[in-house]
Amino acid sequence: MSLTQKTNTNSSSKFTTVGAYAAMKQGEQLVPHSIPRRSVNKTDVKIQIEYCGVCHSDIHYVRNDWGVSAYPIVPGHEIVGRVLETGEDVSKYKKGDLVGVGCLVDSCRTCSSCKEGLEQYCEGGSSFTYSTPDKHLEGHFTYGGYSKQIVVDEDFVLRVPENLNTQAVAPLLCAGITTYSPLRHWKIKKGDKVGVIGLGGLGHMGVKFAHAMGAHTVVITTSESKAKEAHSLGADEILISTDANAMNAASNQFDFLLNTVPVSHDLNPYMQLLKRDATMVIVGAIEPIKSPIVGGNLVFARKSIAGSLIGGIKETQEMLDFCGKHKIIPDVELIKMDEINTAYERMLKNDVKYRFVIDMASLN
Ligand code: NAP
Ligand code: ZN
Ligand code: ZN
Repeated sequence: MSLTQKTNTNSSSKFTTVGAYAAMKQGEQLVPHSIPRRSVNKTDVKIQIEYCGVCHSDIHYVRNDWGVSAYPIVPGHEIVGRVLETGEDVSKYKKGDLVGVGCLVDSCRTCSSCKEGLEQYCEGGSSFTYSTPDKHLEGHFTYGGYSKQIVVDEDFVLRVPENLNTQAVAPLLCAGITTYSPLRHWKIKKGDKVGVIGLGGLGHMGVKFAHAMGAHTVVITTSESKAKEAHSLGADEILISTDANAMNAASNQFDFLLNTVPVSHDLNPYMQLLKRDATMVIVGAIEPIKSPIVGGNLVFARKSIAGSLIGGIKETQEMLDFCGKHKIIPDVELIKMDEINTAYERMLKNDVKYRFVIDMASLN
């Protein structure tokens, strides 16, 4: 019997063992591993994973950068695949549908955030797609999309537009919604001057969305090599953040900044770019921000620094539909599963244009 067909039972429920890639311990590379997936419950959808995007958060978790990782970790929260099986009460999906799963697989569903469709801010604690205690499989943590199959409650499954390139669409499930949501929340509109800091997986989607919403879009990058191509993503201007003269010349111009830098960094040079009353939203740096923030950069022009976490299920579906309508897709580099450790090394050198996507058919 092959790995993907073996069925077992444990104390809490039936499960099937499927192939995956995991980091077994902190500091170790990802290796082939097998994981349990629960049998389909009444409201569950079983998905055959076709593609999975590689988010910088996967690297943070594998390396335990945030001190919350539970090993073994099977990363991956940009999941696209086809429905294999549905539970008897599933009403939204049927076998063969093209679907996605992002960063969330459950939430309490009763708190005020959940009731408002903001499950990512669930006060009872959201269940993330990986490295969260699994409600269904006792003693296990949730395992993500670097695997052949996943079983998710239909309420946390998204419908993926069929008119987009399936190979490229997976990064919308995290990079897409994480950039779309703050642009919507801060009501970015035609004519606003929006700066996107960091042109990686998230940043390049931020540029596409800001452009599609009619904003004058500026890429703020440390990589001069990315400058030329940024126009093709929808950027109107490029600002090299390591060029102090250029940064000074751009002072007090921006209505909104979306900061995707994945590490702690000095926010002050970016704060100076904001106009009066404008906001910089942090999505990348979760750890303590090291350089002190100069109060005057906030006080003298009533500026704000805010944060934002992915997006709720309803808004994620809205974003996918928006992409279907406007034919917005990520720029991706397709890799095989066993190339993942090299892909991480390249991402850490800012060497990806702009998102790696794993072809899950390459995992045998
Ligand atoms: P990524 O693809 O590696 O892109 C990050 C980009 O930031 C790099 O390409 C680089 O762009 C820039 N950068 C890197 N190091 C820098 C530094 N020291 N100083 C200034 N700029 C730097 O990463 P990603 O997948 O887009 O993720 C970005 C961050 O967002 C990660 O920390 C990730 O964990 C986080 N994240 C947050 C959420 C959320 O819900 N809030 C969701 C997903 C991911 P340039 O070459 O253009 O400078
Ligand atoms: Zn992510
Ligand atoms: Zn809740």
